[in-house]
Amino acid sequence: MTSQEIRSKFLSFFEGKKHLVVPSAPMVLKNDPTLMFVNSGMAPFKEYFLGNSEPKRNRIADSQKCLRVSGKHNDLEEVGYDTYHHTLFEMLGNWSFGDYFKKEAIAWAWELLTEVYGIDKDILYVTVFEGSDDSDNLKMDQEAYDIWKQYISEDRILMGNKKDNFWEMGDQGPCGPCSEIHVDIRSAEEKAKVDGKSLVNMDHPQVVEIWNLVFMQYNRKANGSLEVLPNKHIDTGMGFERLCMVLQDVQSNYDTDVFTPIIREIETITNKDYGKDEKIDVAIRVISDHVRAVAFSIADGQLPSNTGAGYVIRRILRRAVRYGFTFLDKKEPFIYRLVDVLSKKMGTAFPEIKAQKQLIENVIKEEEASFLRTLEQGLILLNGIVEETKGDTVSGEKAFELYDTYGFPIDLTALILSEKNLKLDEKGFEEQLQIQKNRSRKASETSTEDWTILVDDAEQEFIGYDALEANVKITRYRKVTSKKEGDMYQLVFNLTPFYAEGGGQVGDKGYLQDNHGDTVYIIDTKKENNVIIHFAKNLPDDLNDTFKAVVDQKQRFRTECNHTATHLLHQALREVLGTHVEQKGSAVHSKYLRFDFSHFSKLTVEELRDVENFVNARIDGKLALQEQRNVPMDQAISDGAMALFGEKYGDTVRTIRFGQSIELCGGTHVKNTGDIWHFKIVSEGAVAAGIRRIEAITYDAVKDFYFENNRAYFEMKDLLNNAQEPVKALQNLQDENASLKKQIEQLLKDKAKNLKGDLKNEITELNGVNFIAKKVDLDASGIKDLCFELGGEVDNLFALFGADNNGKALLSCYISKNLVAEKDLNAGQIVRELGKYIQGGGGGQPFFATAGGKNPAGIEEALGAANEYIK
Ligand code: ATP
Ligand code: MG
Repeated sequence: MTSQEIRSKFLSFFEGKKHLVVPSAPMVLKNDPTLMFVNSGMAPFKEYFLGNSEPKRNRIADSQKCLRVSGKHNDLEEVGYDTYHHTLFEMLGNWSFGDYFKKEAIAWAWELLTEVYGIDKDILYVTVFEGSDDSDNLKMDQEAYDIWKQYISEDRILMGNKKDNFWEMGDQGPCGPCSEIHVDIRSAEEKAKVDGKSLVNMDHPQVVEIWNLVFMQYNRKANGSLEVLPNKHIDTGMGFERLCMVLQDVQSNYDTDVFTPIIREIETITNKDYGKDEKIDVAIRVISDHVRAVAFSIADGQLPSNTGAGYVIRRILRRAVRYGFTFLDKKEPFIYRLVDVLSKKMGTAFPEIKAQKQLIENVIKEEEASFLRTLEQGLILLNGIVEETKGDTVSGEKAFELYDTYGFPIDLTALILSEKNLKLDEKGFEEQLQIQKNRSRKASETSTEDWTILVDDAEQEFIGYDALEANVKITRYRKVTSKKEGDMYQLVFNLTPFYAEGGGQVGDKGYLQDNHGDTVYIIDTKKENNVIIHFAKNLPDDLNDTFKAVVDQKQRFRTECNHTATHLLHQALREVLGTHVEQKGSAVHSKYLRFDFSHFSKLTVEELRDVENFVNARIDGKLALQEQRNVPMDQAISDGAMALFGEKYGDTVRTIRFGQSIELCGGTHVKNTGDIWHFKIVSEGAVAAGIRRIEAITYDAVKDFYFENNRAYFEMKDLLNNAQEPVKALQNLQDENASLKKQIEQLLKDKAKNLKGDLKNEITELNGVNFIAKKVDLDASGIKDLCFELGGEVDNLFALFGADNNGKALLSCYISKNLVAEKDLNAGQIVRELGKYIQGGGGGQPFFATAGGKNPAGIEEALGAANEYIK
């Protein structure tokens, strides 16, 4: 069975059981402060489990892209070394939201595995939660046990502890016991030797968990206690690649058709064989895994970067580059070349990969190239460190500096040192790392209290598209304390005009006012699991009051100007540059807008002007806002709206139209493009390979911009003595400046020539050496030229020159090469010694060396001591 067939069989099986099949949600999360990436099938459905919104159907099935590289689930370091953990993997899941429970979940799992897929039930084991005697004091899951024993013999039902068999979403939220299904795919001989039962959950590569059925029946509160959920849910997750391993009768996920095409391509590119040498195999597995994680992240809109989720992606890619560099001898970019196979293999199930192949390749290639440069540079620095090292151990501090400042990986440092028979002070390195970690942890520590509920089961309504003011009730609040921001309160209202940060647009600011006219400022608004949360520095006196909630109208209006302009800019770019332009990120603030988009080259001045003109023509055209809420997605698309990769859309969407510009958008907009007054691009540049960024301003920011430019212009004109044509006047000044520079250079050369003549006359003979020690009025390079020119004309020369360059002392020593040998003189050593007079030091070669110091007063003394070396 091919992996494609395996995936579709799963989905159609549950479709047959009345599940709605939905596509995978984007992997990069935008709306959840507790999680960066989807790390299990349930993450995109969190809001349903928390009861914040209603699922489309209470039975759903899907294949979800998951990434386990940070936070609670982090498998990164295992990947490549074992054969069944990946960074990115697909989790097949079936879901019940308050509908069916254990009985059906277990029956269907069994039916699918043994009847549909035809897995021999004698290779299966299942686990059941054994209970806990800790503070939760939970009973064994007898209910699950009794259901399982109808299907599988009791000696194959194993008891599992809390770590393996009690699933929690996070520190808080829905949780419950679970039953895992394990397979034992060892050979008959192996099985005869060791009982499979003893290998379950023991990290054996052929006795692995394939499916986890979670029975959500509790809610974990912030104070740590459990409450029973009124509505019970089913959340299951089956590792797709592991299932393929079982059904394709191979011993490793990497031997399934999910990976073999990528591995074959790596073999071709690197000229290495998979399956002959463990080190090479690990490297090939690492690369074949990581390219998937990185490619899918980029497709979902997350580019490698220096912070947050982008940094995690960058680190994954760098890990792959490092393995290629070290074990496959690849010193130039090659991982990007695997995207083609990947897109052929996965493009049908995940069209985002196919559609953005070119972009993904470009971004990966550039990242690879840049990290390879870092590696090359790091090798040079490391060689320097090795040379300086006395003894056989390189200090942890030095290695840490290389790692922290230059991004040079520590395991590579260790490897190279061991090849040179040197040791690395690993303990010292760990200490440095710990110090740094503590520092950043302290800065980011936050604690979140439980919600205090003021109104039970409150619904929330957003009215901010139509109103900027409303009378509201606070339904719940909590305190969040962080080292960085101090105490902050989060408030939820029954009704709110405040727009929560989303779709690139910033959250509203404003205030709450009670009956006595006292106010509390709302400094930001954000969404968490679909609930709008208002941020305030303090709480109102009487929380049960009714409040007037007022949005800061000015900031909202400026933001709207920028949001509408962003749509027009998007349209303009596709019109002027072509339809390959796709939105890759957008930030809509009150003061400016930022728009990232795919395009391969810098915009010319003409293109920028055309884009600006296009937008301004639509502003002048006074186009009215046409907003439609609750349009079916299909209709919006056929009307010409574009869905963005990496965005999560519902069945019905909101469309925003200004003339020919149609977008799916949840943001707020001006009523008429004429309100924007004017649009001005202020910068254009690259953010990554194939991705450009435009920053622009609108409305009164443009007025400020012109005012400021005008002021600068008149100031400049003033400095140019009110020239009629200031540009020409400036050009003249520049020309004049250039010719003066040339003259000065010539004068300095002449001066040096004269000086050389004078100095030649001052050379005296001392013990067969032509000796001169003198203070001159030249800079370092002038002195160097002088030395070499004199040396070319005078034999047996020993020259020492001193200079005071703006308070910095300089000593340079030149010794004819024959003297160096005959008289055992060394300029490097001499300047080092004489350096003490000028309170400094230096060095160089035996025939020419220079020292710098901070005491010009000592120059004469140093010169006076020079003849000692000849006597
Ligand atoms: P394991 O103990 O093997 O790491 P887990 O307990 O972390 O598994 P769950 O969190 O229950 O796994 O995830 C559900 C299923 O997803 C697992 O049964 C497994 O088949 C699959 N899975 C989990 N982690 C990975 C991974 N890193 N790569 C591939 N598949 C995975
Ligand atoms: Mg795990």
